[in-house]
Amino acid sequence: MEAILLARLAEGGEQFKGEDPAEVLELEPDDAVVSVGPLRYDVMVASLPGDELLVRGKVGCEVVFRCARCAQSFTLEVTENPYVRSYELQDETESVDLTPDMREATLLAFPAYPVCKSECLGLCSKCGKDLNQGLCECVPEPDARWGGLDGLEI
Ligand SMILES: [Zn+2]
Ligand SMILES: [Zn+2]
Repeated sequence: MEAILLARLAEGGEQFKGEDPAEVLELEPDDAVVSVGPLRYDVMVASLPGDELLVRGKVGCEVVFRCARCAQSFTLEVTENPYVRSYELQDETESVDLTPDMREATLLAFPAYPVCKSECLGLCSKCGKDLNQGLCECVPEPDARWGGLDGLEI
């Protein structure tokens, strides 16, 4: 988004909602990230007494990840919510560019180990079959010890 011009900021604050092209995230697709959507923001920006600019709302983007277990693509909304930042204003400050912090917050919100669902079974290490679609022949009877873990959020 364009830098906030302090002289034009409405008294009592102003809502900024929109999106920037995904390029502002400067993220190269890699093994885990298939594609990235635009950087979306929905923030309230207000200048407070004491020369402070307060930004509050949410930022994030939609990402298509490749599951670290089964390699299927899945879409996840990556957000920081609430997103809260404050900027100290100097006398000579005319504008504040919010995009660098929004970009950083969004990138930090990316999961380190993206999985399509917590109970994803992944691929068979022998034949490569997607075990979410059924067991393959190389897998012996399901281990009864895992039964007790069903339904647990991991
Ligand atoms: Zn998966
Ligand atoms: Zn197998």
